[in-house]
Amino acid sequence: MNEDRQLPAYVIRICYDIIAEETPGRDSLRRVLELAGLERYADAPPPLDDTPALTMREYEKLIGVVWQAFDNVQARDIFRRVAQRGFSNLTRSGVLAYSQVLRAFDALGTKRERVALMMSKLTNELTRALGNKHEFYRQGEDFILDIYDCPYCAELVRGNIAPPYAHVCHIPVAFYETAIAWASGSPHTVQEVSCRVSNKQDYCRFKIFWNVAVKIKP
Ligand SMILES: [Zn+2]
Repeated sequence: MNEDRQLPAYVIRICYDIIAEETPGRDSLRRVLELAGLERYADAPPPLDDTPALTMREYEKLIGVVWQAFDNVQARDIFRRVAQRGFSNLTRSGVLAYSQVLRAFDALGTKRERVALMMSKLTNELTRALGNKHEFYRQGEDFILDIYDCPYCAELVRGNIAPPYAHVCHIPVAFYETAIAWASGSPHTVQEVSCRVSNKQDYCRFKIFWNVAVKIKP
């Protein structure tokens, strides 16, 4: 994968906003950006659009800095919120325009068919936007997603940071949970079942457990 590939500005803008919301003042955000080598954004938030704004390598480094600077629970919360906002941004951006997707949904019989269609669209879009392969397929009742060259654990894989858990890629877990709940109208669990931090492969594997979910807490 080309690490110099430029990612769209909305990727960094969403991280920027969530870190600003989760930390008490501008100083924390500034330090995190500095540690990630992204100080050019400290006083000027990037736009929430597709303008090329940072390299994949910089994005991976920013995720690594969140792991380093915050504890496991804080980092997980930040990653989950980044993912949830990332998905809602995509639904507004036209990639998953409601009218277009819902029209396609109407022709489909079951919720599982809807989710399969939406996931194919979404994973193709992510492959296009991020440049790394996202492979989505069915496995019995469930679905599998393999993310090659997964950027969410890349800094840990490089060996700079000791992994806190065997599975660390919270952004795709929360992103696809949100996406599947949106398309199906009900919650389904997504788990990272195999991560590059421990599997020694070139992909992380995620499983969507169809019709398995915990209650949403008030
Ligand atoms: Zn992983």
